[in-house]
Amino acid sequence: MEVRIPIQHYRKLVRRHSKEYIISFAEPRRVISHVTGRNLVFVTRESGIPLLGHAAFGLIDRGTNLIQVRCVTGCNLNCIFCSVDEGRRSKTRATDYIVEPEYLVEKLREVAEFKGMGVEAHIDGQGEPTLYPYMEELLEGISKIKQVSVISMQTNGTLLDEERINMLEKYVTRINLSINALDERKASRLAGIKYPLQKVIEVAKMIAESKMDLLIAPVWVPGYNDDEMERIIQFALEIGAGKRYPPLGIQKYIPYRYGRKLKKVMNFREFYSRLAKWEEEYGVKLILTPEDFGMEKRPRIPQPIRKGERFKARLIAEGRMYGEKLAIVRDRVVTVRSRKRVGEFAAFEIVRAHDGIFLAEEL
Ligand code: SF4
Repeated sequence: MEVRIPIQHYRKLVRRHSKEYIISFAEPRRVISHVTGRNLVFVTRESGIPLLGHAAFGLIDRGTNLIQVRCVTGCNLNCIFCSVDEGRRSKTRATDYIVEPEYLVEKLREVAEFKGMGVEAHIDGQGEPTLYPYMEELLEGISKIKQVSVISMQTNGTLLDEERINMLEKYVTRINLSINALDERKASRLAGIKYPLQKVIEVAKMIAESKMDLLIAPVWVPGYNDDEMERIIQFALEIGAGKRYPPLGIQKYIPYRYGRKLKKVMNFREFYSRLAKWEEEYGVKLILTPEDFGMEKRPRIPQPIRKGERFKARLIAEGRMYGEKLAIVRDRVVTVRSRKRVGEFAAFEIVRAHDGIFLAEEL
């Protein structure tokens, strides 16, 4: 028997869809994201898909007071350096996920109660979080969790405007905004599409003027935006980014196994020595530590699955990448590399169980 996500959940999604995240029914039970053109799985409590165990949706606990909250996958950009190969041109991602806000808040509350006071809920993801049509409901729910003292969010800023910034300001402490170049041609080359640079510059200024903190987080991609880093530092300082937190979080391009790969990669020594030089020149902290963000170690949510364990379970949904399916084991979602179809049973062995994210190979 094929396990299907009840159609009423999709109907609910359609009723509440936003213009930024338009979906359509390709077939009676097949929903696709218009942003990426991929199948979209709606993760609700009723779907039975747990919110712990996957890197693309739900919650990730890496043993600190910061919990990553992943509400949606998919991106409106196609950055040439993207570590998760996102956007319409992705060659590896087969499926997108969207999580029901009430379900996500309920699970976050459970995790936050375990962690104790002073939790940071960090909304990020394999994609662009502002595509999520239920952002206000999600933020309102998170803001009512008493253990959560900081809500932060990552965004490329391209979908924000004054109205949405006013909404975010009610709940969000800090926005990490990625701007990779202040030259339109370079910015578009990096984004893989025509990039709305002027709009994002205005968005950055509006955030800096709001109650929220702004951290500008460019990815330094050697050969593409070397000359842009100093311009971005000057811009961040000029507009008043970084009130309580550092104004900049320059990241080094790192080629990941399933991300987009470029030929030129800078070594860490060179990267940090350039940051140290600019720190001195501009009087701004650029080499950041977790303490700069109030991060501290906290006990992890106990993991009920160990590497090497073997299970047999039904495959309940398509996986994030081609050749992957999802299964449920001990209230965790497990990615299974399997040739079987959704609805069939598979025997598998856990080959990776790191940070509460589980990967299995079919036996
Ligand atoms: S904005 Fe982020 S998620 Fe989207 S394509 Fe660029 S790097 Fe990837």
